[in-house]
Amino acid sequence: MPNCFQCHNLVDAEAVRCPHCGATLKAFGHPGIPLYQATKEDYLCDTCLYHEDDSCTFPQRPYAKTCTLYCDRDNPPGQNDTVVYKSPGGWLSLKAWCYRNRTLLILLIIVGISLWLALS
Ligand code: SF4
Ligand SMILES: [Zn+2]
Repeated sequence: MPNCFQCHNLVDAEAVRCPHCGATLKAFGHPGIPLYQATKEDYLCDTCLYHEDDSCTFPQRPYAKTCTLYCDRDNPPGQNDTVVYKSPGGWLSLKAWCYRNRTLLILLIIVGISLWLALS
């Protein structure tokens, strides 16, 4: 559960407004759009990746106190994300292997049938 940027009480991650102090926590009243807020004396742009790489075209730059696109330059998304690919194992692995090597399997079956017919 995140903290309210204003009163620092715990708030629901989906909350649009802080139930304690009424601060706006989400942009456009939508729980899926985060609204980043600067502290009283700082500007968000000072630590934003898009300000650093000069790709931001927002008019409030470089003095944004609130922003929907803020990206912390010290912790950009994807930096600490790790994707773990896990083999399904067992029957699913065998099925996947057969699907990948279906041409080889068909050739082996044809050769096997041919040998069986030739020897019988
Ligand atoms: S995205 Fe927002 S916080 Fe980042 S530089 Fe632009 S206006 Fe500033
Ligand atoms: Zn609050």
